[in-house]
Formats: sequence, C-alpha cells, structure tokens
Amino acid sequence: MTSPTQTLPASQRPYATYSPVRLQELTERETLGFVELHPGSRRLHQRALKSLVSGVPMPWMARWAGGFPIYAAHAAGARITDVDGHSYLDFCLGDTGAMGGHSPQALVRATQHRIADGITMMLPTEDAIWVGEELARRFGVSSWQFTLTATDSNRCALRLCRQITGRRKVLVFSYCYHGTVDEAFAIRGHDGVTHARAGNVGAPIDPSETTRAVEFNDLEQLEQALADATVACVLTEPAMTNVGIVLPQPGYHEALRKLTRRYGTLLILDETHTFSAGPGGCTRAWGLEPDVVTIGKAIGGGIPSGAIGVSAEVLERVLSQCDADYEDTGGVGGTLAGNALSVAAMRATLEHLLTAEKYAVMIPLATRLREGLESLLAARALPWNVTQLGCRAEYRFQPTPATNGSSAHAAGDPALEAYLHLYLLNRGVLITPFHNMVLISPDTSVADVERHNELFAAAVDELLDTR
Ligand code: PMP
Repeated sequence: MTSPTQTLPASQRPYATYSPVRLQELTERETLGFVELHPGSRRLHQRALKSLVSGVPMPWMARWAGGFPIYAAHAAGARITDVDGHSYLDFCLGDTGAMGGHSPQALVRATQHRIADGITMMLPTEDAIWVGEELARRFGVSSWQFTLTATDSNRCALRLCRQITGRRKVLVFSYCYHGTVDEAFAIRGHDGVTHARAGNVGAPIDPSETTRAVEFNDLEQLEQALADATVACVLTEPAMTNVGIVLPQPGYHEALRKLTRRYGTLLILDETHTFSAGPGGCTRAWGLEPDVVTIGKAIGGGIPSGAIGVSAEVLERVLSQCDADYEDTGGVGGTLAGNALSVAAMRATLEHLLTAEKYAVMIPLATRLREGLESLLAARALPWNVTQLGCRAEYRFQPTPATNGSSAHAAGDPALEAYLHLYLLNRGVLITPFHNMVLISPDTSVADVERHNELFAAAVDELLDTR
C-alpha cells in the first residue's frame, strides 16, 4: 500500500531513516560473510600480527572494514585480485597513487628500462627536464624540483615560504590533510583559537605556535588571520578532499588570492588529490594563480614521487638569498629525491596515462556515477549528498554538501561507512577505507560504475528495509 507521504515529490517528503539496530545486524552479517570469504587473508593477518604493528605495513592499512585487510596478490588496470582469488573493481586506486591505473603498460615499460639502466646516480637525467617542462605547461608555475612524496613537497614548500618572507606562521584550514606535516594538524576551535587536532602524536611544539587555522570558505576569518602580516603562507588544497570533498564557493579563490597578495602572504596550492580535476589540477581548470604548487602520489603512478613548482617571482626571491643553504644541510634535501626511476615514472604517467584525452573519458564517468547516486538518494529521500571533483566523487551523510571542514568532519559516520564499505567489498567493489571516495581511472568502465551504483542501492535498500 502507498503511504500518503510516498505520493509527494521527493523534495517534499520527510527524510528516510533507518534503525541503528538494523545497521548493527547487517554489519554483523557482512562481517561474518567477510571472514568466511577470506580465509587466506585472515591467515596472513594472524601471521603478520606477530611481526608487524597491527599486522600491516602501516597502521592505516588496518582501517579497512572487516577486522583485517584483504591481502593483495596482483593488480592491473582498475582491478585487484586478493590472495583468496577474489577479483575487485578498484575505486580506491591506492588513495590516488594508482589513479592512472594499476601497473599500466607505459609505466611498466618506462620503469623497467630505467631500473635496468640505473636507478639513482646523483646525476640528472633528461626525463627530469621533460617532466619539469610538462608540469610548468600544465600548472603555469615555471620552476620545478622533485621530492619523494607529497608530504616532502609540502614540508619543503613551507620552508621556502618561511625563508623568503622571513615570517614564521603558516595558515591552514580546519580538517585539512597535507601528509605528515606538523603545522597542518591544527583546527580552529569554537573559541576561535587554533588548537592541535585531536590525537596529534608527539607534536614537536604546539601547532598553535606555528599555525593559524581557519575555516575553508570563510573570508572574514581568513582576513583576520592574515591582517597582521606575520603569516608566511597559506597551505591549502584548491578544494578540500580529505574530509569528503568541500568545494570553494563562487568567488572564494579570487578573494583568497587578493587577500594573500594584500598581506604579503604566499599561496601554496597542494594539488596532490585535486589533480583529479584535470591535467593541470584545479590550478589550470579554474585559472588559479598560486605562488607554489605541490603534488605527489598519482604523478608517479605509485613509484614514490613528488614535485614542487614555484613562480618566477618566488624563484627569484629564493635565489637572491645567498646565505640560505638549499643544497646541503638547509633542511630542504633528500638524497633519493629526483632519482632517475621517480622521474621516469612521472614522465610515463604524464606522457601516456593522465593526459587530457584520458581525463576526457574519466571525468564523464565520475559524472555518471554521481548522477546515478544522486537520483537513487533522491528516490529514497535519503539526507545524504554526493560531490564530484573531476574524476573523483564522494558521498557524505548530510543533506547538502559541507562548505567547511568542521561541518564535513561532523558528518562522518564510521558505523554507516563500515557497513557500506563491507557490503561493497564482499561483492567485489573497493572504495577508499577512510571516507567514501570513489575514484575513476583510465581503465574504469561504464559497467564498473553501474555495478558500484547497483550495489550501493542494494546496500541502502537493505538498510532501509524497503524490499
Ligand atoms: N597532500 C594531500 C592533499 C594528501 O591528501 C596527501 C595524502 N593523502 C598528502 C599530501 C600526503 O601524501 P603522502 O602521504 O604520499 O606524502
């Protein structure tokens, strides 16, 4: 029988709700199913617990839902096979490290050659020039140097900005993530004061001494924090991506740029994740004018790589500082940074994998995924939203997309996430374990997207018990 509310258009219906007891029962059922399906991974995990912290190479690998991670056997394109022989459609893609696909031929060929011809020699190779030229063309900042990770790039960028401005403070946005960068683990409290983020491990000094944290999209807070002209730089992603996707509001970037210039503060755009927006990240897609661009992960196709690009003006200021030791013990080094293997991997990725042509296929697939999810959420009157940034989409448990990190953070729901992730995983679909990021690679197909959405709908319908 149709209830009176079901005859209303979706936008006027009350939101659907589910019972927490049902969520718990379903999660228990899925956990039992997971354990049954993965005896090989379970055995490896039990063995690993004796020698690896939490039974994994890095503690975050223990955060997959199910109690233990699946152990990977091999991966190719947009697929992973585990040690129990199950195959998965991979929408996690190494949390972007494999955005160009797993072990694509072009990357394998280039890196195999490089491994055979010398991996690291303390000498430059021609590939590095190619990569510098290509990054300059894509991101519009002229001079590049290399690191091994996005974290390294951000740490180095902060040092450069402090050095050339002579200022100590940096500004970040509440609930940002830029890798293990001490200064970035800061949030703005309800009291308007900057505090260390909960759980901050062994901070060298209280981040409130190094950092001012404000809310993304809040220009009043931003101007207040910059106005005394003691902030060396703003370190930000063009759109926040590590607390769901928080997009900038119209005019925000223009104002951010105007204010940073007005108060002599440099602007670092961390494009590590927002590289999903297109071949030149958001910088190119939105016509932004950063002083410094940092990037890592996807540009090396999974081979440890990072890069920092600076504008001509920043470079001039850096080079004019004769007393700063940029080459040796000045704190911006890295023996393996810029090694021949990393730059060969970056070249292969930029030349063959994450090209304009590939984005032209990947982005419409992410749009298809988002639109499919939006219509199924609307049909069920679920108060959740879906955001998209190029070839990346994310679902979040609040009716409209958050406009700042604190609000997005508050919408996290670990119990619901665990159920959805496990439901998908048990049926052969992986999404990122930390939040609900769904990433498209050049090898992802329409059928893969449809499969994800079908399973998502089935998981939700069981939760709402609408069968
Ligand atoms: N910047 C951003 C925006 C990130 O999301 C991350 C990691 N997720 C990093 C930097 C750090 O990357 P890595 O851990 O590879 O150094």
